Amino acid sequence: MIPRYLINFDSDKIPKSVSDVLVIGSGIAGLSIALRIGADFKVTLLTKSELGETTTRYAQGGVAAAVGENDSPESHFKDTIEAGQGLCNEEAVKILVSEGPARLRELIEFGAKFDFNNGKISLSREGGHSVARVAHARGDATGSEIEATLVSLVRKNSGINIKENVFVLDLITQEDKCIGVITYKYPDEIEIFYANVVVLAAGGMGQLYKVTTNPPIATGDGAAMACRAGAEISDVEFIQFHPTAFYANENPRFLITEALRGEGAYLIDYDGNRFMLGVHPLAELAPRDIVTREMFRTMTSTNKDFLFLDATRIPIEKLKSNFPTIYRHCLDNGIDISKDMIPVAPAAHYMSGGVSSDMNGRTTLPGLYVCGESACTGVHGANRLASNSLLEGLVVSKRICDILPSEIKELKTDFEKVSVSYRLPRGYSKADVLEVRDYLQKLMTDNVGVVRTEKALKLALDAIESAEDILELEFNSVSGFELQNMILAAKLIARSAFERRETRGVHFREDFPLKDDLNWKKHSVLKLNEGKMEVSFRGLVGQPSRLS
Ligand SMILES: Cc1cc2nc3c(=O)[nH]c(=O)nc-3n(C[C@H](O)[C@H](O)[C@H](O)COP(=O)(O)OP(=O)(O)OC[C@H]3O[C@@H](n4cnc5c(N)ncnc54)[C@H](O)[C@@H]3O)c2cc1C
Repeated sequence: MIPRYLINFDSDKIPKSVSDVLVIGSGIAGLSIALRIGADFKVTLLTKSELGETTTRYAQGGVAAAVGENDSPESHFKDTIEAGQGLCNEEAVKILVSEGPARLRELIEFGAKFDFNNGKISLSREGGHSVARVAHARGDATGSEIEATLVSLVRKNSGINIKENVFVLDLITQEDKCIGVITYKYPDEIEIFYANVVVLAAGGMGQLYKVTTNPPIATGDGAAMACRAGAEISDVEFIQFHPTAFYANENPRFLITEALRGEGAYLIDYDGNRFMLGVHPLAELAPRDIVTREMFRTMTSTNKDFLFLDATRIPIEKLKSNFPTIYRHCLDNGIDISKDMIPVAPAAHYMSGGVSSDMNGRTTLPGLYVCGESACTGVHGANRLASNSLLEGLVVSKRICDILPSEIKELKTDFEKVSVSYRLPRGYSKADVLEVRDYLQKLMTDNVGVVRTEKALKLALDAIESAEDILELEFNSVSGFELQNMILAAKLIARSAFERRETRGVHFREDFPLKDDLNWKKHSVLKLNEGKMEVSFRGLVGQPSRLS
């Protein structure tokens, strides 16, 4: 059984505070929301690390938006739908591509220094895009520029109560409504934050895998806490693996952006062949799932751990000016990308699914809103189009802020009267947290990775279920709580991947290698019912049952 809360507590005995809006997470999604709503409402922003330590900060390629002369929202729509392999919510995609350009321009007005060329936003091309459409800042340092800009604005806004290094353990619910969170701060501070509205912007779960581009904060806390609170989770089997992470024995692995291929870098095997030619008309710029799978196939058949990216035909001045971060990182690792091949291999990169929501961030749990990588609005379908995720964070955060004023009024709670407690007989943990985390990451990479089979998924599910006892133990460390979230998040992914008996987008089943629209053009929906995980499949995604 999966316990409702990570710790036992009695709200009457814990320090509490009340806000109008509580934001969990300080990436592009959380910061954008706090910033927009902070002037008018009492906002508390909680983040488990320092304010700027997020996945957003590491984004390289940029923000996709139809702002180029030869581009249009219709073309961006078409590319997004094509990448999503029949599972995109078309209404949601229309909103994304039509509101995207205005949100990008707003970000530039906020002060983010995007790259310009002759007075026009400079655009690069990435996989699956039919034109150059990706706006970038300081070459390949887009995420760092966006994060720094938003952090500085949020810090200047005295209306936002910023709480760093505060780990959100759980969403508190009363009468099936989310009314706040319970938190842990090292070494032993437990606190409750109540709010009329809670926005979950806790990012993704790449750290469930041994080989990932995601920073250590990406442990799936958002999906796990939302699931424990009773919200629906959708499409989490669609984990995107980026084809070109720098090969090294490290976690996370450094990303080599697709934009480098957009400038002309080739993927090369050990015999010096461009193996993507003949696989897809766009060759190296095919959608990510196709490139990743071909790399995996080539690596497996030749028994190699990595292949090569050849950027040597790009002029050195361009490499230095457009890809300064990559150029420096590779040089620090003994590789001069203007002369040497870059060793690359696929790595877990992005969670296309998440907490089911509409394009206004509404989840199936009243009082809970979700934004950014934690959300499943249906815009990514079975495979996110490159650089659509920062865009989604920008577009949905604005839309959430447009509806929040009226929702806050509607959801008002009298917190004086609230009393919540939870008690479960728990043993103290003797588990070696790092050892179990390492085991889980390897289990996921080996069995719930790029290529999946019934046998491997069953093995993973059995192993995860036998680790579920850990969910009933009492921890008092962030790493312990993260491990508990990772076990639940791993179960969500493995269970939906096991159930989906077809191949679609980034979900490749070797035993069911074809797309099967007749039976599976549906979204997975996972929900806890009295501590047991239930899975169903339905036609609509991003349209929670509360709203349909
Ligand atoms: C290397 C790399 C390059 C990428 N490049 C691009 C790109 O070029 N374009 C693009 O569109 N996308 C890119 N992506 C994806 C994109 O960066 C992310 O999807 C996006 O930044 C997610 O933003 P977010 O605000 O949802 O979450 P994040 O930026 O991950 O922020 C999550 C926040 O939640 C907090 N948090 C998590 N759990 C808890 C908890 N329990 N308690 C309190 N706080 C918590 C974290 O501390 C953090 O502040 C890239 C991803 C990676 C890894």
